[in-house]
Amino acid sequence: MDNAPEHHSANSLSQKDLFKMPIIRVALDVPVATLFDYLASDATTHDIGVRVQVPFGRKIMTGVIMEVLDSSPVTPGKLKTAASLFHDIPPLPLTLLDLCRFCSNYYHHPLGEVVMNSLPSRLRSNKPFIQKSTPPFQFRLTDAGRHADTTSIPVRSIIQHRLLNRLRENGVIKPDEARQISPSAPKVLQKFREMGWIEEVPIHSSSAKSVSSPVLNTEQQTAFDAIANDIRKFNVWLLHGITGSGKTEIYLRLITLLLLQGRQTLVLVPEISLTPQLEQIFRSRFPTTLLVCLHSRLSDSERLKGWLQAQKGEAKIVLGTRLAVFAPLPKLGMIIVDEEQDGSFKQQDGLRYSARDVSIFRAKQENVPVILGSATPSLESYYHATNGRYRMLRLSSRAVKKAVLPAVHCIDIRSAKCIDGLSQPLITALENGLAQDQQSLVFLNRRGYAPVLLCKSCSWTAKCHRCTSRLVVHLREKQLRCHHCGHQERFPSSCPDCGDQDIVPFGQGTQRVEALLAERFPNARILRIDRDSTRLKDGWEKMLKDIYERRVDILVGTQILAKGHDFPNLSLVGILNSDAALFSTDFRAAERLFAQLMQVAGRAGRADIPGEVLVQTEFPDHPLYHALRRHDYAALAQTLLSERKMAGFPPFVYQALLRAEAPQISAAMNFLTSAAELAGSTTGGVEIFDPVPAQMARLKGLERAHLLVQSGSRKKLQEFLTSWHTRITTLPIRKVRWSLDVDPQEF
Ligand code: ADP
Ligand code: ZN
Ligand code: ZN
Repeated sequence: MDNAPEHHSANSLSQKDLFKMPIIRVALDVPVATLFDYLASDATTHDIGVRVQVPFGRKIMTGVIMEVLDSSPVTPGKLKTAASLFHDIPPLPLTLLDLCRFCSNYYHHPLGEVVMNSLPSRLRSNKPFIQKSTPPFQFRLTDAGRHADTTSIPVRSIIQHRLLNRLRENGVIKPDEARQISPSAPKVLQKFREMGWIEEVPIHSSSAKSVSSPVLNTEQQTAFDAIANDIRKFNVWLLHGITGSGKTEIYLRLITLLLLQGRQTLVLVPEISLTPQLEQIFRSRFPTTLLVCLHSRLSDSERLKGWLQAQKGEAKIVLGTRLAVFAPLPKLGMIIVDEEQDGSFKQQDGLRYSARDVSIFRAKQENVPVILGSATPSLESYYHATNGRYRMLRLSSRAVKKAVLPAVHCIDIRSAKCIDGLSQPLITALENGLAQDQQSLVFLNRRGYAPVLLCKSCSWTAKCHRCTSRLVVHLREKQLRCHHCGHQERFPSSCPDCGDQDIVPFGQGTQRVEALLAERFPNARILRIDRDSTRLKDGWEKMLKDIYERRVDILVGTQILAKGHDFPNLSLVGILNSDAALFSTDFRAAERLFAQLMQVAGRAGRADIPGEVLVQTEFPDHPLYHALRRHDYAALAQTLLSERKMAGFPPFVYQALLRAEAPQISAAMNFLTSAAELAGSTTGGVEIFDPVPAQMARLKGLERAHLLVQSGSRKKLQEFLTSWHTRITTLPIRKVRWSLDVDPQEF
């Protein structure tokens, strides 16, 4: 031991002591698919899930203890000793560590990165976390407690009777009041809690009145009963209900049920910041329940606070975006994924997980139901629901009495008279809306003034030098902007190719439509809503307020507007420029377009106003528009599913994409070719395609290519990926960045 190198922090111990010392296996945020072993003198299996500081190279890093062992394959003399264990918060639940293991295996991503990235950043740092005391709380009698049969409590159990009587008189009891009744009160209250008779509520908000809930209609009741009857079991429920059919109401009822049982609900939504209404609805329905939001726009400390409240089981409702799927929830009772088809549930870098799919795994692991809600389910989910793997529940009419679905009409712009891209029937409809003091919405999914800057004499167009994309004209700022990489440049005064000064914006974006409408309807109050106009903090909330309080006549906007907003005064929706997606090379484009148009169309005519939707198109006979006119999701889904089956696309096959990017396309392609060669003979049941450039062949200055592999069997694909991935890591890579994307959504 005399010659032991310096980094042997255990060099004061004898070899014999070393053998007896427990070994911890630690997850660290490093990009290698392995965990790291350290000596930790007093670690026990209770320390699994505890954060720990360890020496790593020349640094000190914080990781999470995944296992505690009594031997390690590493030579004992080579093991370093852990610096310190953090006992500042309770250990991460074992189920959460298993969830991370699943993600690591399924997405072929290093476990250490998965574990560490699931934590709020404050807990990844090398400093222990000092907790402030938790807010004061009290116990509140639940409905179950109010109606509980007291004859089930033995007469002798005086404390139980006294506590229950006090609760029935006052509705609530504080912990110290209870202790005055008897020192054993906390134990009794704990028992009441387990029976669902009482619940913990923060003291400050106990006076708030909750909003009453409407009587469920027959379809809602049927759906609620089905889930409620199986509330303690894993099932994937597909709640397929048209916009406004009252899906949210069902979520609220189910959450009420879980609150009675003292259990937590995780609600995942695409983008909370776009739907402040939803948070409001939840808060006003459950004013005394601790609800936390978890999303990436929170500050580190806000996120940490919510995360800890979830971890302690205090937060009964966790409302979050995809990252919330990794929140620790010791009393998890149900997961809801609202708008399950939304692309934002899939992370597009790092761990490329789908929060929806991880939710399903998590629900299965914890044996709780998961509800996928949507008006336009993803074809994957819909297919599983029709073949019996998921259980389908339908809501086919709008929940509010009298509210009917809007009438959808196509305007054939090959024959209709158009002025600056606006057809006469749409203009007339907008005029009528103004005359009747009702709101209208013009939807097009393209921000900026025009998507192209064109030279009329030589057909030059302005392109991004870093991406395979055209630069978008932002006229007001006199700028050209790339919507993919953020590059901006000034407007050229003449064509860089031929020198002609006749360069013009071509095509329409929201800014241009806004300008056209302002010219056409000088007295109308027009509001543009897109990512540019809502960028300012609180901008979006102020805009929503203006819409509600009827200070807006015509809205012009992108898909931001489509998400979950209830605009009570909106009667007309006009849809521009949706044709391009009909003929996209992306096999999911039609599905996405339909979902988007159904969502936008669903904004029209919610309350007492009948709605109308006008779609400007050159292809009024396309099956997608047929289905849209009849609000017939099922018909389109059948068409698209049979196309997918014929072509061998998901959900009939499972896919993975090996992505590569490099400064030179040849480097990326060579890497992929070598990877394909590695796959060689081991491809039983797995199809391997040739490497091809990505749809967006260049992004942020890097050339991109990919290689698709697919199989009819998820298991076979996974087996293949596991061995292939290991071999790919041995490839010499020079200047190539690669990643494996399981169940890819973008190509
Ligand atoms: P979805 O989430 O399916 O789009 P919501 O849950 O937002 O639909 O419901 C749409 C509207 O209908 C809301 O204003 C909601 O308060 C109302 N609503 C829901 N269920 C009922 C019901 N059973 N009776 C009356 N109104 C209802
Ligand atoms: Zn030119
Ligand atoms: Zn760019």
